[in-house]
Amino acid sequence: VRPSPAYRRVLLKLSGEFFGNGRVGVDPDVISQVAREIAGPVKQGVQVAIVVGGGNFFRGAELSQRGMERSRADYMGMLGTVMNALALQDFLEQQDVSTRVQTAITMGQVAEPYIPRRAIRHMEKGRVVIFGAGAGMPYFSTDTVAAQRALEVRADAVLMAKNGVDGVYTGDPRKDPAATKIDTISYAEALQRNLRVVDTTAFSLCMDNRLPMIVFGMEGQGVARALRGERIGTQVIAD
Ligand code: UDP
Repeated sequence: VRPSPAYRRVLLKLSGEFFGNGRVGVDPDVISQVAREIAGPVKQGVQVAIVVGGGNFFRGAELSQRGMERSRADYMGMLGTVMNALALQDFLEQQDVSTRVQTAITMGQVAEPYIPRRAIRHMEKGRVVIFGAGAGMPYFSTDTVAAQRALEVRADAVLMAKNGVDGVYTGDPRKDPAATKIDTISYAEALQRNLRVVDTTAFSLCMDNRLPMIVFGMEGQGVARALRGERIGTQVIAD
């Protein structure tokens, strides 16, 4: 018999940067690869919900620095995440994984509205639920939405997939060569040391609700390994 998976239900956050492979738009090759990594654990019975970012299209904060009104720019950012959600849905279905997209901004022709109880039902039936349009609220990030959705659908953990960094470091590894990777850290310490690999709102929401987080790199089948419950990256815990 196969050992039972470590997680019953998890929430996976994929950044928009990853979807674009460093450029504007979507790169079908990288999405297809991650869809294969998700399909395996799903077929082994892990219930998976996914929050997708949108930084490969628009980031509200950047557009507002260039003169746009922040809220409108943030809505553009949220709409970008929906395109990533649809792209991921397509490649998951090519792997024979049944999916539903739910968006926080209603758009009935392309996706279901966000209905948490229905999302749970989908997962119980083996469907992957992809959450698009963030929280539907300006001034939020998709990292924070990942924490909130994980709490609301009662996931065992939130898995933050990162591009180019494989966990939480003592400093920014891209700027500080002396920075070292941390195996386990508390939310309080991550906040106090201002470790910004995940945004502070997401950290504090998880801390207050004692939701475990794994921050890990996508390289080397990171998504498949994290979904299977392997100890990779950094574990962030309430205390
Ligand atoms: N956004 C927002 N509210 C949300 C989620 C996202 O306003 O609840 C906007 C925000 O402008 C953000 C953009 O959508 O910059 C894209 O999301 P994010 O930057 O979190 O994506 P990622 O960094 O993961 O690619």
